Amino acid sequence: MKKNYKAMVLTCIDPRCQPKINTIMKNKKLIGKYSLFSIAGSTLGITSKKLSNWDKVFWKNFSISSQIHGIKKLIAINHYDCGLAKMLNKKKIFNKKIEKKIHDNSFKSFKKSFSKKYPKFKLETKIISV
Ligand SMILES: [Zn+2]
Repeated sequence: MKKNYKAMVLTCIDPRCQPKINTIMKNKKLIGKYSLFSIAGSTLGITSKKLSNWDKVFWKNFSISSQIHGIKKLIAINHYDCGLAKMLNKKKIFNKKIEKKIHDNSFKSFKKSFSKKYPKFKLETKIISV
């Protein structure tokens, strides 16, 4: 297997993300050059303490992809109107502002873990609307 793939993409399992991610990756000229990991909530599924072991499954997969595909970058894509964000929200009110804060807190925590585990790798994060 060749070892010159570019990145892993981390996304939510929400089917509405697929066409958007395809466009993003097409624009980056990375079609066929990235590994894909989908989990409910994307980084939310990995940083939530309520979902035990989800993080372990992700980190193992990322490690394997870095070894066999040679990736050196992670592109983490979360999205608005995410079912997991709604589930994790402790407040009664749920709106775009509250959801942005949930994603931003998750990115902050995720970036910390990522840079500790992979200090030489690149991490890109974004929130898309679906
Ligand atoms: Zn989602």
